[in-house]
Amino acid sequence: MPRSIIHLDMDAFYPAVEVLDNPELKGKPVIVGGSKERGVVSSASYEARKFGVHSAQPMATAIRLCPNGIFLPARMYRYKEVSKQVFEIFHCFTPLVEPLSIDEAFLDVTGARRLLGDAVEIAKKIKRMVFEEPGLTVSAGVAPSKFVAKIASDMEKPDGLTVVPPDKVREFLDPLHIKKMWGVGKVTQRALAQLNIHTFKDLSQIRVEVLERKFGKHGAKMYALAMGIDDRDVEPEHETKSIGHEQTFMKDIMELDDAKKELLALANKVAGRMRREEVSGKTVSLKVKYNDFKQITRAATLPKPTDDGFEIYSVACRLLEKTEVGKRPVRLIGISLSQLSFLGAGEQLSLFNRDQSSQKRKELNIALDSILEKHGEKSVRPATLISNK
Ligand SMILES: [Mg+2]
Repeated sequence: MPRSIIHLDMDAFYPAVEVLDNPELKGKPVIVGGSKERGVVSSASYEARKFGVHSAQPMATAIRLCPNGIFLPARMYRYKEVSKQVFEIFHCFTPLVEPLSIDEAFLDVTGARRLLGDAVEIAKKIKRMVFEEPGLTVSAGVAPSKFVAKIASDMEKPDGLTVVPPDKVREFLDPLHIKKMWGVGKVTQRALAQLNIHTFKDLSQIRVEVLERKFGKHGAKMYALAMGIDDRDVEPEHETKSIGHEQTFMKDIMELDDAKKELLALANKVAGRMRREEVSGKTVSLKVKYNDFKQITRAATLPKPTDDGFEIYSVACRLLEKTEVGKRPVRLIGISLSQLSFLGAGEQLSLFNRDQSSQKRKELNIALDSILEKHGEKSVRPATLISNK
């Protein structure tokens, strides 16, 4: 039996809450973001978007594009409060709610269909309830998979409802540009364009071997998505899980530098796994076991989630300074990431992360993963690790 997944995404959430709390702002270009000199736009109302303002844009640019805009600082505590109300509504319909960010979630309502009406009826009810209290609009996509539901919810924003029945998935996907696909950044887009692939349909008509040769496992994954195949479950527990790796050493580690080399290898392994599972994490934990089996953990939380090995490594190195590594013999080191979020969280996730260097690193990571996939872990190692051998 096909599943019924609903993706719900609040419309211009931060500005919408500002308008909710101050109705005089209704219909005006409201822009929520950081400082006017150095900050970026967090979220812009649809009225502001007409001027070309969008999230992650420098505030200075937004001011130039929309000089009469109403610029407001983010009130996260308030957005969280409203978000809680909205998620309570989601939970009325199913326990299978996977939050992607403060204003976005997947719901699996397969089991709730008989009880509460079919998935489209449930989506309509949710939209109505959110509109009544707290008083906001949410866009919904209803489809047999997460991937398609997510694309669908974006089609008719704001206040949209897009339904893709199981037998219409290919019809729906075929004409879409491949940039709508998760994990397809500018570099991948360019590489696909060289193969004359621009739409989902183009991608689905290429032999999967060709894609695998060029992109490794990522190629096979893209192909499956183009065919509308995505079996990933809605995972309500996502935020409590963690992904980690640890290494017990044959010989105790004595030197700080040696410990750092191990950290780099671990960080890359963890990051690789996160990218394979398409999650990123906010909290980095470092575990150290000394040779007398005394074990400690140190943790730090990043302002935004990451799946980047070097970033994880940098944090882990800072945490290392809060240990006695280098002074006491070390038996085991481990790194884990928690507070995970689904990579498809897209907008909100990349919101603070869209500067060029991190975008490049992201695409480099994808390339790295496909090489690893093909040739194994030894083939790609950062220079400091090679010098180790
Ligand atoms: Mg949203």
